[in-house]
Amino acid sequence: MTSTLTPETARQQLEEHRYWRYRGCAPDPDQPTRAQGNPDLSLDAWGPYTEEGGEAPSARNLRLEAAEAVCGTCPVLAVCRTYGLSETADGRLAEPEGVLGGMRSLDRHKALIARRREAGVPAAPAADDARLDEARTAQKQALLRSLARETDEELVAYRAGMDVRTSNWHRSLLCGLLGLDKETASRQQLLERARELGVLPAGARITPDGRWPIAAAPNTDGSRQRRIAPARPVQLILPGFPHLARGRRAPATPAAGGGTRRPRLRIVRTVQPLTLPIATTVLEPAA
Ligand code: SF4
Repeated sequence: MTSTLTPETARQQLEEHRYWRYRGCAPDPDQPTRAQGNPDLSLDAWGPYTEEGGEAPSARNLRLEAAEAVCGTCPVLAVCRTYGLSETADGRLAEPEGVLGGMRSLDRHKALIARRREAGVPAAPAADDARLDEARTAQKQALLRSLARETDEELVAYRAGMDVRTSNWHRSLLCGLLGLDKETASRQQLLERARELGVLPAGARITPDGRWPIAAAPNTDGSRQRRIAPARPVQLILPGFPHLARGRRAPATPAAGGGTRRPRLRIVRTVQPLTLPIATTVLEPAA
């Protein structure tokens, strides 16, 4: 069950197989959205679930079982499985989602992890099927999609349609379901793991954490959104000068030739190079 071929070579071998056009998951000649190996089955049965919201575990199981049954009689099963198990140069599955060669995404991930363990390369623990199903509930899917787009916990919760407390609770649970330590995992690690295990669509764009990783979930000491770094950097927003507060005009100064003038103001953002990054917003007279 190992693959030493590169994904490109394995894919080429698959597509050049003399029975490739007869594969079970090819479009049925009479019904192009159905599989020729079982015209009652939609071609979507092999892919990851892409509809809005979650997929019921029982429905998912039935869908995957039907796809696996077709794979079982497919004339290119062996080469397809080789491709499905092929890994990229950075040690990830070339095709992390869906059924390939009669194997579900999770089974192929487990095979990859076992292979890496054998080779002495540390691998993250695999989450089991039931846990993955739990991570695919409608609320957790909404939360993951929202978390992929936003880095602010309030916005994550708002976009997911829940309050911050519920959103943070789901984030904690997701860490456990995907085999991560909620105390140390970062938001980006959580999202990448979700994508790797097919819980988040492969094409989902993940907004980067920024300079310091953001914690995946609140920790047990009650901290909510926080950055993870050796020195636990904190961002402070210092208030502007009181006499230049928003809505007030700058004081007038004597002008050359008599009279007074009021300087125009412009906003200047600075980040002072201290141990802790301190972002300040001040107003200063324009040149
Ligand atoms: S083994 Fe399964 S996934 Fe691969 S080509 Fe055949 S039907 Fe499709």
